[in-house]
Amino acid sequence: MTSDVRNEVDGFMRGLTKRNPGEPEFHQAVREVVETLMPFVNEHREYKDAQILERMTEPDRIIIFRVTWEDDQGHIRANRAWRVQFNNSIGPYKGGLRFHPNVTQSVLKFLGFEQVFKNSLTGLPMGGGKGGSNFNPKGKSDREVMRFCQSMMVELHRHIGEDTDVPAGDIGVGAREISYLFGFYKRLENRFSGILTGKGLAFGGSLVRTEATGYGCVYFCENMLNHRGDSLKHKTCLVSGSGNVAIYTVEKATQLGGKVVTLSDSSGFIHDPDGIDAEKLAFIKDLKEVRRGRIAEYTTQFTNATFHEQQRPWSVPADIAFPCATQNELSLDDAKILLANNIQAVCEGANMPTELDGVHQLINTKVLFGPAKAANAGGVAVSGLEQSQNALRLSWSREEVDQRLRTIMHDIHEKCIEHGNGDGYINYMKGANIAGFVKVADAMLAYGVV
Ligand code: NDP
Repeated sequence: MTSDVRNEVDGFMRGLTKRNPGEPEFHQAVREVVETLMPFVNEHREYKDAQILERMTEPDRIIIFRVTWEDDQGHIRANRAWRVQFNNSIGPYKGGLRFHPNVTQSVLKFLGFEQVFKNSLTGLPMGGGKGGSNFNPKGKSDREVMRFCQSMMVELHRHIGEDTDVPAGDIGVGAREISYLFGFYKRLENRFSGILTGKGLAFGGSLVRTEATGYGCVYFCENMLNHRGDSLKHKTCLVSGSGNVAIYTVEKATQLGGKVVTLSDSSGFIHDPDGIDAEKLAFIKDLKEVRRGRIAEYTTQFTNATFHEQQRPWSVPADIAFPCATQNELSLDDAKILLANNIQAVCEGANMPTELDGVHQLINTKVLFGPAKAANAGGVAVSGLEQSQNALRLSWSREEVDQRLRTIMHDIHEKCIEHGNGDGYINYMKGANIAGFVKVADAMLAYGVV
């Protein structure tokens, strides 16, 4: 980056920080995008003159509301919830709901901003949004979660709809929560329509939606490796997290010949040098998806594995790293350790899992770096396919949805190459940011001053 561009980026970020104080995650996500977009926007005066960057970093609207509910002991609880409707230039708002105690407006704005670019990259007609609550589902009974979801929907139903805004799951919001939310929407509105995705198969869900983010992330990684004449076969892989994205990343990476040796949760990580095969993954699915237990329990079942309390998996030597837990889980120091161990690719399953200086380090060292907005777009892509099936009142087969997912991930990879190729090294971050930006920016230009 030239010093002129750096000054311009710093000036832009000063303004954004002043307008959005106390929102570090949002600042980080915008900086990451603006650093690569500024030179492109400078070359295309039409975007600059129309203030497209300034307009794209301001959400269309944010809805904030209280969610009051009663716990099993009869105590009244109050949480805060948000829906950030970021940008609907190319389609209805679309993006997940997150339930986690560290959810803030800043976290949801960063996620909503990223979602605008990601959804554009899929090629499907979806705008970007995100929502959630600081409600912590951990340790709550099913009935408590149900009461919370129903109370949340009492307000949320006014703001969503199949042509307006279509939420989905994210951290802490899986099949159980989507079912409670959808069931209550249906009751409030007396309508059966695709206003949420990630639904159960019996009531409008799509095959492969559960697997889509993890599978898509591995397809993207395989595309990056294939482009270098390589593949996942015999590669040792690190995966963090043990939720929806992590589980199906392990499943697909293993199916394509890789050996995954780690998984984690917020209490630490497990290392299984023999690899987490299909049988071991079945244990994890039961542990995490049914019993909602802790990852440490893996070592009581598979005794060759070790548990490393309150640590992340990045110090284990490997060829490929898939951070699939949460934001900022891979620091600059972690990136340096990965590089010292000759990592070949880092492919982001989670949103913004790598801190910005870690991203710079990986890209400057020219390892393959698959940024979240490209690599984890498979989840929202299949959500888009769920919306299409709902609108058609049809259900496509597993093979058909999986094939469409593969094609979408392949096409995203091609778009990254088109905009990110420089001296033979593909800067996927730059490619994804520019490719995602152009479609939304062109729509905004076409609408005039709105
Ligand atoms: P889940 O709730 O299913 O799993 C989250 C996992 O990450 C759990 O293992 C959890 O551990 C761990 N985790 C969460 N917060 C922290 C933390 N602060 N520190 C350490 N570990 C943590 O969520 P998903 O798998 O759905 O989502 C994971 C990531 O992927 C998120 O960044 C999400 O935004 C992103 N994503 C998800 C998509 C989807 O389709 N689900 C689509 C695109 C992106 P614990 O149980 O201990 O909290």
